[in-house]
Amino acid sequence: MTARRTHIVGAGIAGLSAALTLGRSGGEAVLYEAAPEPGGRCRTIHPADGFSHDNGTHVLFTANRQALNLLKAVGARDRWIEPERTGLPLYDARTGAMRRIGLSPWSWLRPSRRPPGIGISDLARILRLAFAVQDCPVASIIGNRPIMDSLIGPLTVAVLNTPPEAASARRLALALRSLLWPRAGRLLVARNGLSEDLVQPAVETLQTLGVPILAGQRLRSLVIHDDRVIGLSLTDRTIALRPEDQVVLALPPYEIERLLPALPVPRRFEAILNLHFRMPGLERPRFFGLTGALAQWLLVRRDHVSVTVSAADAAVHRDAADLAAAIWRDVVPVLRDLGLEASADRQPEARVVKEKRATIRQDASSLPQPPLRPLANLALAGDWLGTLPATIESAVISGEEAVAALQHAPAAGAYPSRHHPHRREDAA
Ligand SMILES: Cc1cc2nc3c(=O)[nH]c(=O)nc-3n(C[C@H](O)[C@H](O)[C@H](O)COP(=O)(O)OP(=O)(O)OC[C@H]3O[C@@H](n4cnc5c(N)ncnc54)[C@H](O)[C@@H]3O)c2cc1C
Repeated sequence: MTARRTHIVGAGIAGLSAALTLGRSGGEAVLYEAAPEPGGRCRTIHPADGFSHDNGTHVLFTANRQALNLLKAVGARDRWIEPERTGLPLYDARTGAMRRIGLSPWSWLRPSRRPPGIGISDLARILRLAFAVQDCPVASIIGNRPIMDSLIGPLTVAVLNTPPEAASARRLALALRSLLWPRAGRLLVARNGLSEDLVQPAVETLQTLGVPILAGQRLRSLVIHDDRVIGLSLTDRTIALRPEDQVVLALPPYEIERLLPALPVPRRFEAILNLHFRMPGLERPRFFGLTGALAQWLLVRRDHVSVTVSAADAAVHRDAADLAAAIWRDVVPVLRDLGLEASADRQPEARVVKEKRATIRQDASSLPQPPLRPLANLALAGDWLGTLPATIESAVISGEEAVAALQHAPAAGAYPSRHHPHRREDAA
């Protein structure tokens, strides 16, 4: 008897997670990726001139248990380090003040870690947000309080990549509640970069498990017969599936819409703007937040400085050189504070990466969701599925759940999800 083979399409984090889940349980899998390299939206760019940098800075929290488990499984957990062990430094560009804030509410027991301007009535608002029952925009709960500027606003755009005026309180609540556990609010970054510290270790583990990755293979169309996929038409080959074979599509929603047009999928996206300044930095990464500026997050690495602007739909259309000049002016005071040589009138070489569809727009109106298993032998994966914020954590979970849905689902679309509880109804 031949072993059942699972064809996984898309080698972003969701596809890698599905492949690792299958490979580690002894299943036979093969991974197809349209791009020349795996990693998807979570990757390092290696230009010919040697200035390598991530597409954009990615952070994890210690609360992201599934993502950290994946890192452990591929031997890369210790490559993710906590750059700011004593609280996140936050620079207010309007006043020039720098202070550290704790991301976990427990850390606020120490006055030096409390977000500026936080009072008792704010704690009540944060609790209402963390346990939001009805969905509504984050800003409608927090209002125009100082903590919107110093904590909730930055956290909302970082986690949901959607402005607080529109962002879903319920999605943010899931992230906030996970930060309530002691030591869950520690922020981690890849020591050297996303490829070296996440994607490559995953690829090497898959090689050891005997799971091949075929890069440069775009899925053009699915061949479907009687509620089953029977063929995959790829860039330079067509794969005929055997009756026992299965498929995981670990793809963004617009690709699912193209391949399976009847399925409901989210159609709105938000941009993230990333700038990378080539300059001598620091041996050990440092990470800062900025308020009152276009720049929101700053990561200092050994040979460059990366700046992130999330929920950047307005900024992303601006001219790249103008953006680089404006953002450089924002970050100079922080860099000088670190003892680095930086002057407003001498901007280093900059690379601008505009991710126009960085994530789905996670606003308070409920997003269209397809069933997890829309065909008898096909399941979906991707950070955009379910109700969790669309992040690495959600991508990892979705890969695991797609595999579980194919293994255990009693009927198409009816797989009850641990992490995406509302999918069951969606699927009905
Ligand atoms: C700039 C930026 C910053 C971010 N910051 C954070 C952060 O700080 N923390 C965090 O947790 N998350 C962050 N995210 C989100 C995170 O990157 C995503 O949640 C995650 O990478 C999504 O993985 P995925 O596998 O679901 O999707 P993708 O990464 O989009 O993977 C899909 C893969 O499918 C491939 N593909 C597409 N079409 C086809 C086809 N037809 N055939 C074959 N292959 C195909 C693509 O090339 C891609 O490799 C950020 C994202 C961006 C863009």
